[in-house]
Order: sequence, then structure tokens, then C-alpha cells
Amino acid sequence: MNSIFQKGSKRPILIAGPCSAETEEQVIETALQIKQFCNIDMLRAGIWKPRTRPDSFEGVGEIGLSWLVNAGKELGVPTTTEVANTKHVEQALKAGVDVLWIGARTTVNPFAVQEIADSLKGVTIPVMVKNPVNPDLELWIGAFERLEKVGIKDLAAIHRGFSVYKHPKYRNVPNWEIPIALHERLPNLPIINDPSHITGNRNLLLEVSQKAMDLNFDGLIIETHRNPDAAWSDAAQQLTPENLGILLDSLVLRSQKS
Ligand code: PEP
Ligand code: MN
Repeated sequence: MNSIFQKGSKRPILIAGPCSAETEEQVIETALQIKQFCNIDMLRAGIWKPRTRPDSFEGVGEIGLSWLVNAGKELGVPTTTEVANTKHVEQALKAGVDVLWIGARTTVNPFAVQEIADSLKGVTIPVMVKNPVNPDLELWIGAFERLEKVGIKDLAAIHRGFSVYKHPKYRNVPNWEIPIALHERLPNLPIINDPSHITGNRNLLLEVSQKAMDLNFDGLIIETHRNPDAAWSDAAQQLTPENLGILLDSLVLRSQKS
């Protein structure tokens, strides 16, 4: 089967875009800067944001879907957003989003994953599943099984790290042995690394991205924003498209190593 995640292709698949869609202008401007500085395979933006505390920005909702889809057309790449319930799935499909992802706080809940899976019966769409926030490999695998059972064939994993009370360096600890174990159990499943949510810090993105490339991950999903410090969510970990281009150019890929 032809996978949108291009398993086995030379270049790692690259997904980038803002943590959240904030305004139409911010989404399109970020996409135009991406066009100028990077060569990406898929555009991301969060429309519904799972925030830890109430009274944080929780996403613009349905209106942002058309901003994302139009920005994807401008870039000529497919688009992806997070879905956490059946209403999100319905609205994302209606708007023409190309790929869905299930977030870390949803993967932990088998009821929620099952409801999303049930709403995708008979639908052909690629789905990415982030690891659950807790380091539970079986729960992560269970989410893929629920999606496979309803006929979703084009699947990918996103490794975004695991919650701990305190960590001196990373926002979410990578526990690299877990995605490695996932690969052993499901060898054909592409695995995409998410250095943005692992590090929580734009200065650490390169080292984590390079580690993922050294471990032969299939791709990277990195948050980028036209004005990162002013971002409405995850400001510390986003970087400008220009700096994303520099980061990508400095990655040493396996094919380049002698
Ligand atoms: C995100 O990708 O912006 C996000 C909310 O991610 P996670 O589910 O990994 O926290
Ligand atoms: Mn984010």
C-alpha cells in the first residue's frame, strides 16, 4: 500500500506548522515563511487544544480548519490536526483535512480512542497516534489495534515523550527504549519523532532531532510559528520557519554518513 508517511524513502518525512492555529493571518503567514525556508511534507496546526489548566487558550475551533486547509493548498502539502472526539473527526473530515492525529492525552483513554475509531469506520484517512502521556507501550499499541480493526490502514506513531513530575532538562522524557520496543513489535509502522513536545525548549530541538535520525526514525514533527515568543501555546518550544530551515540543514542523515 502507498503510505502518505513514505516509509522507506530517502529523506525523513517532515511535518511542521504552529502548535495552534491562532488567526487566519498567523496560519497563512507561517505557511508562507515555511515555503520560503523549508521543504516540508505536511502542515500541522492544532485547532482544539488539550490544555492542562482551565482558562488557557483552548484552540479556535472549527473556524480554523479552513485556515489550515487553505494554507496547505498554498504550500501544496497535505494537512493534519489533532482530533480528540467524534465531533472533531466529523468537522475535520468535512473541512478536508488530509491526516488526523490522536494526542497524547487521548491515547491514554481507550474509551475515547474507541469512539474515534468507530467514527472512522468506512473512512479512508491516514491517522497518527501520539504515545500516551504515561510510558505504557501496550496502551499505545492498543490504540493502533482499535484503528486497524475499523479498517484504517495508513497509520504512523508519534513519539512525543512521557510525563514526569520534574525533569531537569526535558519537558517530557524521551524514554527512547519505548519507541524502539514499538518498532520491534510493529516493524512496518512508521515512527515520527516530536522533539518539540519532548524538549519544551527550542534550544534542545536539534539534539533530540539528531538522536531520532541516528536511531533511524521515519520522520520529525516540529512546531514552527512566525513569532514564537508571542505564540498562544507552547511558545518556548516553537521556532521561526527560518530557524527551522537552519535546524533541518544541520541534521546529519544516515545517507550522508560515511
Ligand atoms: C500538540 O501537538 O500540539 C499537542 C498538544 O501534543 P501532545 O498531545 O503531544 O501534548
Ligand atoms: Mn504544542
